[in-house]
Amino acid sequence: MELFESPSALQNYLKKERSSGKKIGLIPTMGALHQGHISLIEASVLENDVTVSSIFVNPLQFNNKKDLELYPRSLEKDLIMLEKAGCNAVFSPSAEQMYPQQPSLKIHFGYLEEVMEGKFRPGHFNGVAIIVSKLFHFVLPDKAYFGQKDLQQFAIIRQLVQDLSFPVTLVCCPILREKDGLAMSSRNVRIPDKNRPVAAKIYEALQLGQNTLLAQGIQECKRTVTEFISSHPELQLEYFEIVDSETLEAVPDVKQSRSLALCIAVYLNEIRLIDNLLVKILN
Ligand code: AMP
Repeated sequence: MELFESPSALQNYLKKERSSGKKIGLIPTMGALHQGHISLIEASVLENDVTVSSIFVNPLQFNNKKDLELYPRSLEKDLIMLEKAGCNAVFSPSAEQMYPQQPSLKIHFGYLEEVMEGKFRPGHFNGVAIIVSKLFHFVLPDKAYFGQKDLQQFAIIRQLVQDLSFPVTLVCCPILREKDGLAMSSRNVRIPDKNRPVAAKIYEALQLGQNTLLAQGIQECKRTVTEFISSHPELQLEYFEIVDSETLEAVPDVKQSRSLALCIAVYLNEIRLIDNLLVKILN
C-alpha cells in the first residue's frame, strides 16, 4: 500500500494506473477508522482495480471548534486496517497541502442544506462539498463510496456531482452497527463506558419509530420517538425527522412516499451522534 501526502505525488501515481486502463475507487474518510469505513473499502476492492482512501480531518466542515479539536486521530492503526482490507493507496495530506489558501468559494444547496444537519451545522455542507470536489479532482475516481450513515451528505454529494458533471459513479453503502445496534462512528470512542448502554437507545428509538410509523402514522411516530428519547435523561434530542430518503422533504403522509428515512441527531453529554433508518413503503 502506498502512502501519499502531496496531491501531486498521488496524481502521478494514479496517472500511471489509469493509463494501463485500471478502474479507480475512492473512499473519502476523516480517519479513526472502524469496520463501517472498512466495509466501504471492501466494496471498492471488489469493484475496482485500484482503491484509494483519503484520511483528512477537514477543518472546513467543522462548525464547532471543540468538536474539531476532540476529533479522534489514529493514523498508524488506520493504515494497518486499510492495508489489511486491500486498499492500494492512502492520501493523507496536511491542512496546508489541502488548502494552500483558504477557499473563498461558497457552495449552496438550497433546501437540501436547510434541514437537519444543514440547519444545525451551518457551513458544514459547504466544507464537505469543497473537500469532496478537491478529492474528485485529484483522484478522478470511476466510483466513489459513501455511507448511508450520513444520508444527507450523500444527497448533497449526489447534487454536487449532477450540478458540476463530475464523471463519477456514486455508491451508497449500508450502515454498519455494533452488536447492540449503535451505528459505528469515529466519535463513539469518546462515549464513556458508563454511557455506552444508553447510546444504544438511539437505534432502539429508530426501530420503535419504524413500528409506530407503520402502525399509527407520522404524528404518532414523532410523538413516540420524542418521548422515548426524553425518558433517558442522558440523551438530548436535536432533531427527529421523517423524510423522503432522496429529496429529504418532510413527508405529510406515509402512503405518499415509497422510500422514507427516519433521521435522528442526539447529544449524549457533549457528543453528537446521528443515525437513520430507511423504511420502504409497499403500497
Ligand atoms: P467519516 O470518516 O466519518 O467522514 O466517514 C467516512 C465515510 O464512512 C462516510 O461516507 C460515512 O458515511 C461512512 N461511514 C461512517 N460510519 C459508517 C458506518 N457505521 N457504516 C458504514 N459507513 C459509515
